Formats: sequence, C-alpha cells, structure tokens
Amino acid sequence: MQIPTTSLIAGEPAAGAGTFHAANPATGERLAPDFCEASAADVDRAMALAEAAFRAHSRPAAEQVALLLDAIADEIERLGDALLERASAETGLPLARLAGERGRTIAQLKMFSALVRDGSWVDATIDGALPERKPLPKPDLRRMLIPIGPVVVFGASNFPLAFSVAGGDTASAFAAGCPVVVKGHPAHPGTCALVAGAIGRAVERAGLPAGWFSLIQGAQLETGQALVRHPAARAVGFTGSLRGGRALFDAAAARPDPIPVYAEMGSVNPVFVLPGALRARGAEIAEGLTGSITMGVGQFCTKPGLVFGVKSDPLDGFAQALAAKIGQAAPGTMLHEGIRRAFEAGVARAAATEGVAPLAPALLHAGPAAGPESTRNQEPGTSAAAAVYRADGATFLAQRALHEEIFGPAALMVACGAKEELEAAAEALEGQLTATVHGTAEDLAEFRALVAILERKAGRIVYNGFPTGVEVCPAMVHGGPYPATTDSRTTSVGTLAIARFARPVCYQGFPQEALPPELQDGNPRGIWRTVDGELTRAAV
Ligand code: NAP
Repeated sequence: MQIPTTSLIAGEPAAGAGTFHAANPATGERLAPDFCEASAADVDRAMALAEAAFRAHSRPAAEQVALLLDAIADEIERLGDALLERASAETGLPLARLAGERGRTIAQLKMFSALVRDGSWVDATIDGALPERKPLPKPDLRRMLIPIGPVVVFGASNFPLAFSVAGGDTASAFAAGCPVVVKGHPAHPGTCALVAGAIGRAVERAGLPAGWFSLIQGAQLETGQALVRHPAARAVGFTGSLRGGRALFDAAAARPDPIPVYAEMGSVNPVFVLPGALRARGAEIAEGLTGSITMGVGQFCTKPGLVFGVKSDPLDGFAQALAAKIGQAAPGTMLHEGIRRAFEAGVARAAATEGVAPLAPALLHAGPAAGPESTRNQEPGTSAAAAVYRADGATFLAQRALHEEIFGPAALMVACGAKEELEAAAEALEGQLTATVHGTAEDLAEFRALVAILERKAGRIVYNGFPTGVEVCPAMVHGGPYPATTDSRTTSVGTLAIARFARPVCYQGFPQEALPPELQDGNPRGIWRTVDGELTRAAV
C-alpha cells in the first residue's frame, strides 16, 4: 500500500519543508519513505481551513457526525493488514497486539457514534418561564452543550492507533461536533498517514467540508507549539509525557486568549498490598503484578511503578517471589530510541539513590545510539529487560525522584515500617491515573484512611486487580489530578471524554423555531432532558 509522505491538509497533500523518517526500533533500520516536515504556512492553512469549516458548519447534524465516526471505523478496517504491518515496523509492537488495538479504536469510534445518535449527551436543561413571578418574572432559560470549535490533537507513541490519529481524543472531538487537526507522532508517521487518509475519505463520505480534518506531520517541537498557539485553535487533546503535556499547557495558557489543554500524561500507578491479602495470596499477587509491570515492555501509562507494603515476613517472601518472576521475564523491544534512553536513565537514577537496592536489575540491550557500555550487549534494536528495586518508607518519603514515572518495565517496592508510614507514603504521592489496593474485607476496614487518601490522588481505584487494561465504557475514568493530567475533572477514555470539547450555552427567551431541536418543546430528537428539575424524554 502506497504511504502518503506529506501532511494532509483538508484532503490535499502539502509539500512542507525538509524531511524526517521513521526507524524500526527492533532493528534500528531506517524505514522508507521519507516524510515531509510541515511548514509554518502548512500549520496556518490547516488551522484556517478548520476554522472556516467550523464557521460554515458550527452545529453539524447528529446523524452527519455519527456517519463520520462510522465511516472512519469502516475506512480503518478497509486498510487491512497493511496498517498493522506498518505500525508494527514503526513501533516494534507485535501484530496481534496491534490487531487488538485496532479493534479497540474501531469500537471506540462506534461507541461515540451511538452516543451522538442517542443525543442525550448534550445535557439539555429547560427551566420554563414564570411570567407571574413576584417581585420579578422569571425568563425562559434553556441550556445545552455545543461544540467548542477546532481541536488540536497530539497522540502518544505507545498506542499508534488507539491514542493517535483516530484515537480517543479525535473520536471524542469529532463526536462533540468539532473539526480536528492532528499533529502526527514522529515515531510512527506512516501509520499516521494511512489513518489520516482513512479519515479524509470518511469526511468526504459524511459530506462535511474537507477542512474538518487535517494531519500535520513533523518532528520539530515548534510545529506542535505553533498549532497550540494558532488563534483558530479552541482546545487541545494531548496524550504523552509530562514534559510534552506541560509544555503545551504552558503555551496554551500564555496565549492572549488561553484555551483548555486536556493533557493525559504519565503516572506511577501505586499498588498497595495489604497484610491480609499478602498472607492469603502473596504469590498470586506477585505473579499478576509481574504481568502488569512487564506487559508491552512496561510501556503503558497505567503500568504499576510503585508497590507498597508493611514490613513483615510475608512481605519479604512476596518481594522474593516478585524478583524471581521479574527476573524470568523476557526482554522486549521498546518503542523508540528516545524511550529506551529515558528508561535507561530512569533505572540508573533509581539504582543510584541511597537506600535503594536491586531485587532484579534491568538488562538493557541498546540499539544504534547506545547508552553506557556496561549496560549494553551486541544485540540490535532497543530491547530492555524488567527491573524491580526495593527501598524503605523513609527513603521513599525523602527522595522525590523516586515518585516519578519510569516509562518501561521497572517498579520500586517500598517496605513501610507501619500502617502510619504507608498512609504517609500515599499522602506524599502526586496525582495518578490509577491506584490499586490488594486486600481482604478486614484489610479494607483497617485501612479505610488509605482508601480515602487514594480517592484524592487517583482517577480510578482498582481493588484486587491490576491497573493495566483500560476498558472503553461510559463509567471509565482515565484521568486524575495533576500531573496525571492537566484537568482532573474529566477523562480521555469513555463517553465522558466528549464533554472536554463542548461548552454550555444558555438561550434566554428564544422563540421555539429559533431554538436547536434538542431544546424545542416537542423534543423532536426524543432525548433525555431535565425539564423544570425532572429528568424526562417527554415533550414540554
Ligand atoms: P511525548 O514524547 O510527550 O510525545 C507525545 C506528542 O507530543 C508527540 O506528538 C510529540 O511530538 C509532542 N510533544 C512532546 N513534547 C512537546 C513539546 N515540548 N512541544 C510540542 N510538542 C511536543 O510522549 P511519548 O513518548 O510518545 O509517550 C510516552 C508517554 O505517554 C509516557 O509518559 C506515558 O505514560 C504517556 N501516556 C499517557 C497516556 C494517558 O492516557 N495518560 C497514554 C499513553 C501514554 P514530538 O515528538 O515532535 O515532540
């Protein structure tokens, strides 16, 4: 399959300025073709066309939006195995994993098309007029959510389909009725180009203006910054590192007209193994945890990176079991050289911290731009083996660097002196996407304060399970307090994600014929609405 080598601006290729290329992380091999780096003029044109498209279609019909989402799913399916093969070459991820990720991407698009067809997501609220009210009459007030405008989306390297060009941010922004301009991830430009082509065809099939979608390709940080600073941008969806998310958040805040940035960033995902659970099934938990730490070479934002327990013989046994299992895990190829280097630096930093001892040290197999000699072998590619370290509670509390994400298959086990120190460690944590508790009914009663602390720290609290594996469904929260995200009030996975790209508007005193259908007395769309305080689908 021919891979377009340029940015795609409103359905047209854009020649850009300069080139960049992808590499196969498993072999270090340079992948053809070279891709054109977008120019400042390309960024400006994509944003201007998105704005023009939105002005022409600022309230697209629900059915047209649903058609767009379904057509994207269909066009992605039509790309067939060529998409998976290119994604695998660019990321080193196995085909089976990518097939699963494609299924998730398609299911997510269909979840949003069903949500849009149902229509109730607009949260229509009608407060009828009280013309006789004394001392003043009450006007007729009707509120609903409307699309915010052009959205700029950045995807992460570890989900080249589900958190990339047609991932959750794009799907939810389209579902809200917004045009989207995606900044392609430079680690998988071919995958981005193929998916962008699918979206371009879907925009045409849905009868929307071509400017409704553009892909900007490039490996320069300035390109992403320019998109966020562009006056036409109304919101940003970002998935990736804390450094990247924060830089874009700061750029958006520094605009003359600041715009919201929904950045979903890294997380350390603490796991608390409570005494009753340790005694009852320590070995089983060690096995499950090993799977969660090493799955996908630890390259998940929900990978558990900290494991807490209270010092005891069962905790020592658990640590040994965890070390043995982690030591047996096969090394795997990391997504790209930059990620492998960051992993290497992270484990080296942890290992060098006073009070931290290795339980099972990482073996790094460096690729073309290798790290220190002592940590590499002669194998090609960017492969890494898992590592687990141990420290006590006082060391963890004193060393802030141990609280940071190491993206990759590494974890730190923290043995706390007592329940109070475990709670102090939980209190010292930054915001998290997830927190996990392994316990029994007795543990839960004894550690009630811990669960209350975790509610303040995390977007999702897992009981007797593992944080990896983020279900796509309405109840999911994939978010959390900073630095897990830049806005803890929402999520990037699940139907609530749509609310990020909509804003409420109140219509006061409007005649029926001038109101959107969702707010008209007859409720022609048959949606759920709150009318004078009652949730109903009935007409007013
Ligand atoms: P990344 O390096 O931050 O890249 C993400 C995107 O942001 C890329 O398109 C990148 O473009 C852009 N970017 C980064 N820094 C920028 C800056 N200063 N200015 C402008 N654009 C910038 O992240 P990654 O390495 O691909 O992904 C791994 C990270 O993502 C991990 O920390 C992981 O935990 C996190 N993650 C989070 C979630 C979640 O849902 N919370 C999901 C998956 C992954 P350039 O490369 O051109 O800079």
